[in-house]
Amino acid sequence: MTERMDWNRLAETALAGDAISPEEARAVLAAPEDELLALLAAAARVRRAHFGTTVKLNFLLNVKSGLCPEDCHYCSQSAVSTAPIARHPILPLPDIVAAADRAVRVKAARFCVVASGRGPSDREVDALAESVRAVRAAHPDLEVCACLGLLRDHQAERLREAGVFAYNHNLNTSERFYREICATHTFQDRVATIERVKAVGLSPCAGALFGMGEGPEDVIALAYRLRELGIDSIPINFLIPIPGTPLAGRPALGPRECLKILCLFRLLNPATEVRIAGGREVQLGWLQPLGLYVANSIFVGDYLTTTGQSPQADFAMIRDLGFSILGDGGADPAPPPAWDACGLGENAGRVTTRPNA
Ligand code: SF4
Repeated sequence: MTERMDWNRLAETALAGDAISPEEARAVLAAPEDELLALLAAAARVRRAHFGTTVKLNFLLNVKSGLCPEDCHYCSQSAVSTAPIARHPILPLPDIVAAADRAVRVKAARFCVVASGRGPSDREVDALAESVRAVRAAHPDLEVCACLGLLRDHQAERLREAGVFAYNHNLNTSERFYREICATHTFQDRVATIERVKAVGLSPCAGALFGMGEGPEDVIALAYRLRELGIDSIPINFLIPIPGTPLAGRPALGPRECLKILCLFRLLNPATEVRIAGGREVQLGWLQPLGLYVANSIFVGDYLTTTGQSPQADFAMIRDLGFSILGDGGADPAPPPAWDACGLGENAGRVTTRPNA
């Protein structure tokens, strides 16, 4: 009979700031069903020690949609996707400021401005920098995160000077598996952009996407790599297999597997913001609240090209857990009756994946 893992010992290791071993990481992902709650309790201890019972809300704006020449197999905006999504160039400044207004209304602490494409042109960076200045003037307490793809010399500095606080560039999977999901750029290209934004003082945000066919060793390799890179926030996406993309039809991981992945990332990155990102509703299903015992951050509203659950449902979930929204002192706000995150028309250009709105 195999020896039972002492999950609390892993929590002690994490709380001491040390890394759990690869063997322990494998045990987390292979935790038996009857030990899942004990594993969650251990990861929750670590979460609570660093973040208490707060939940950080983040709001996404797809500031440029579709039209991407890259071939990321999971992405509805790629050159190889036929998904019926909205396609538009960089939004004008008033639309971006209006979206930031909405972010504040739904209690987001961070406004994530995401553009499709391999990387921005200098002209796009200049346009976004002007919009970011306007957002910062209107909402000085709102963190702005940019996610514009691979950056070239001086682009990161220009964004920081405009008031961008963080830069997101997900690694998505292990270096080994990366070539299975993308042929137009490399894992190392992505690491170089993360190092570039760190070098200019932007807060590095880099995350993962699971459910693409990777194995446990890929999950573990990525968790260690993000720890080594010293990432400040880690969004963990679970694949939404969008029809029209090469990964359409991939089977779901299952909510309990998703929870084990979250536990692994919490234990290996104890003081890092761990965010349950795209796929939260679809892949965690009714177990989503358990995810918040481990993660301390979520997106509120819709995702880039798919729908999320309503902000009211998120507020109710957070309230029922006995948690609070970071930076919030008031009652639930009332978003517009027809919830529409970006103001482009109800769910315009998004694939509906909202199971419990
Ligand atoms: S580079 Fe970004 S927008 Fe383009 S296909 Fe990849 S993930 Fe999608």
